[in-house]
Amino acid sequence: MTALRIGHGYDVHRLAEGRRLVLGGVEIPWEKGLLGHSDADVLVHAVMDALCGAAGLGDIGRLFPDTDPAYKGISSLLLLAEVGRRLTELGFDVVNIDATLLAQAPKVGPYKQAMEENIASVLGVDRERVNVKATTEEGLGFTGDGSGMAAHAVVLIEKR
Ligand code: MG
Repeated sequence: MTALRIGHGYDVHRLAEGRRLVLGGVEIPWEKGLLGHSDADVLVHAVMDALCGAAGLGDIGRLFPDTDPAYKGISSLLLLAEVGRRLTELGFDVVNIDATLLAQAPKVGPYKQAMEENIASVLGVDRERVNVKATTEEGLGFTGDGSGMAAHAVVLIEKR
């Protein structure tokens, strides 16, 4: 039996005025930000859900309920650190992470490396094991009309 486990994560947040836009732990100057209980970092949420899925930990809603005031406005990188700690406790190492942001705007190309560095450093893995991509959806649907952003992530983890 292989010690490898795969996980997938998907998340969506609405865009709203008067909110900071935080993606992959990077604050990006933009006219709107993502709405949510935490900092609403949709990319990190997808990564966390993928890690939880791979490790059999359920999902982030189970670990960090959005009814808990402790998580109001919290940096999702802190939540990611907690997920990483739980994986380590269960004997898992992260093999690699591949995440895709779906957003019409702004252009996030200049920030992708910083996002990869944030995710890798919080999880204590080499940066080359973390890949962040972004795409538009060609003006279609809720990402296309700018009412929200979505993110997918797949991860591979390995039991020590
Ligand atoms: Mg979320």
